[in-house]
Amino acid sequence: MPGEINCIFTKALIPFVEKEVGPEGVATICRVAGRSRDYLMADHNWIPLAVAGEMVAVCRDLMREPDEDRWARRYGESFMDWKPREERSYLGTYSMGIGSPRGTYERVLTMYGQQCRDVYRLEVVEIGRSRARYRWTPLPGQAIPIWICTWLKVQFERFPTNWGLPRAQVLESTCAAHGADACRWEVRWKNPSRGRRFWVPSLTGGAAALVLGAAAHGAGGGWPFLAAGSVLSPSPKRRSKTARGFTSMGLGVVGLRQEMVLV
Ligand SMILES: [Zn+2]
Repeated sequence: MPGEINCIFTKALIPFVEKEVGPEGVATICRVAGRSRDYLMADHNWIPLAVAGEMVAVCRDLMREPDEDRWARRYGESFMDWKPREERSYLGTYSMGIGSPRGTYERVLTMYGQQCRDVYRLEVVEIGRSRARYRWTPLPGQAIPIWICTWLKVQFERFPTNWGLPRAQVLESTCAAHGADACRWEVRWKNPSRGRRFWVPSLTGGAAALVLGAAAHGAGGGWPFLAAGSVLSPSPKRRSKTARGFTSMGLGVVGLRQEMVLV
């Protein structure tokens, strides 16, 4: 089955290309995708991973960026930046609602099942208070391109900045995009200091867990009820309000599975 990527990818790509290249660049990548801008800006839609790869190649060409890793890092940084409302993503909302870096690193299986499907299997090999190990294994017949690996790494690096903390370190010991059987990461992050005002998931609503669990496994994908939310690096002023709001909705209650095939 061909791998697919959620339009969270294009929802961030379009404003990035608009800024870096201009409106004619956006028209070009929409043509490459064979889909309208409206379709590509809706993060309940999906496109084949191969089409996303073609869009990346065209973008790099338009931006005159021959280095795939460097391009993906620039795109990844833009992906994680604070956005105006129409460009925000539901995964940004979700990660903020979890309320802490560790909680976010625990719940990556849920989040990344909504970003790609039929592409890789993500495993949480180990998780501690301030470090975790992950393994991303391409599913049979699939490959993890360099741009995906780098884009994912930038996301993991930036999560703690949700809460004004330093970026995490992602150390990759083997990379599937460079011929290994899997990408193996060790992630190290700093937690908030004691005494600092901080929020944690406070509700254990079974209903919310069931809804999120169903969404994570549903064929349609996407969490439309989160679509109006925020993204990953809000200004300090907006941060606490948003995070408290979503914490109070009980969105930090999805249980961690140690392994899940992301289909
Ligand atoms: Zn890799």
